[in-house]
Amino acid sequence: MRIKIGIGYDIHRLEQGRKLYLGGKEIPFSLGLVGHSDGDCLIHAIIDALLGAMGEGDIGQLFPDTEVKYKDIRSTELLKEVMMRLKKNNFKIIHTDSIIIAEKPKLASYLLDMKKVLCPILQIKENALGIKAKTNEGLGVEGKGKAVACWATVLVKKK
Ligand code: MG
Repeated sequence: MRIKIGIGYDIHRLEQGRKLYLGGKEIPFSLGLVGHSDGDCLIHAIIDALLGAMGEGDIGQLFPDTEVKYKDIRSTELLKEVMMRLKKNNFKIIHTDSIIIAEKPKLASYLLDMKKVLCPILQIKENALGIKAKTNEGLGVEGKGKAVACWATVLVKKK
C-alpha cells in the first residue's frame, strides 16, 4: 500500500502566565496552553497523525516530557523533526485536515497565518492544509474555556 492515513488528537489546559501558540502562530490572548513544550496542540495533533500514518508510535514516545531538551521548545521544531523522519521514510504529504476546538479567543482571523507557518514545514500548498476553528457551544472543558483541543488527519504517499 503506497497511500496511508493518520489521525491525531490533542488537548491542553489554558492557564494564565503562558503565551498562546496554535499552528505555530503566537495569538494574543490572556491565557496560554500549558505543556512541556509550547503547548501547541494543533501541531501536536498533526504530529500524531503523521506518526500514525508512518506506523511510528506517537509524540510522547518521540519527544518524552521528561526530556529537559524539549522544555518550552516551539512545536514547529518538533514538527520539523517529524518531517525529516517522513522524508527519510520516503513519504510525502498529500493532504492534511484539522479542527481546533476553542471557545475563546476567536481564531478565524489567524487561520491564514497558521497556514503560512505550517505549509512550508509540511511542504504542501495552502489548499492541501485544512484548518477549521470552532467553539464547543459552551459544552465540556473546551466550551468552558478551560482547554483547547485539536484533531488532525493526514494522507501520505510513498514516493
Ligand atoms: Mg500535546
